[in-house]
Amino acid sequence: MPTSNQVIVIPVLGDNFAYLYRYDEDNAIAFDCGDCDAVLHVLEKNNLNLSALLITHNHFDHTAGAKELKKKTGCALITTGKTVNDGDVLSFGNENIRVIATPGHTASSVCFYRQPSDTDKQGYLFTGDTLFAGGCGRIFECSAATMHQSLQKLAALPPDTLVYPGHDYTLENYQFAGETEYANEIIKQRLADIIRLHQQGKPLIPSTIEMERKTNVFLLAKTDKDFAALRKRKDRF
Ligand SMILES: [Zn+2]
Repeated sequence: MPTSNQVIVIPVLGDNFAYLYRYDEDNAIAFDCGDCDAVLHVLEKNNLNLSALLITHNHFDHTAGAKELKKKTGCALITTGKTVNDGDVLSFGNENIRVIATPGHTASSVCFYRQPSDTDKQGYLFTGDTLFAGGCGRIFECSAATMHQSLQKLAALPPDTLVYPGHDYTLENYQFAGETEYANEIIKQRLADIIRLHQQGKPLIPSTIEMERKTNVFLLAKTDKDFAALRKRKDRF
């Protein structure tokens, strides 16, 4: 699995992830916050100030701790539709974070893309409940075609981009993938790797865009119709 010193993964509420991204020695931004105390604890442990909390979408398990975190740290609260829109670029220190609108899971879902810079070529993508490792979110407020297009947009990012999803459904996603018509040798190998890592208690994230392009069945589905059928089957899996 790829790793990064800049991203701190914070497991919250069972299978949710909140993230801290340190953009310099003393400062960080957070992505989603289902639990204020969990994020505060990690900030304190690492001696970090929090500049902003960026929210991928308005579901309780991603927002429950947001108001309290803002109150306790004085951070800016950045939410889609109110403070940011598609294509906006947010700057923190020397870092630029691009907002990518990805309607599908909810109508106002966004992903946040830390763009490569001259000094750090690594890209980072925080995907909320749009793209998971080996899967994608359920469709609540949009058509399957809209969700499919949103995922294709993410798949077009540079292959080495690190992908940080809002939940750890990795094992379940690859178990599903292994039972579909897309289950080629690469997917079967990936499922075996994930099972082994899971048994060893090792982290199953981050993923990369390249890995998702090769093994995420929702990205392998070619047409909106194929995608919609696959998503329906996964809903019942
Ligand atoms: Zn959600």
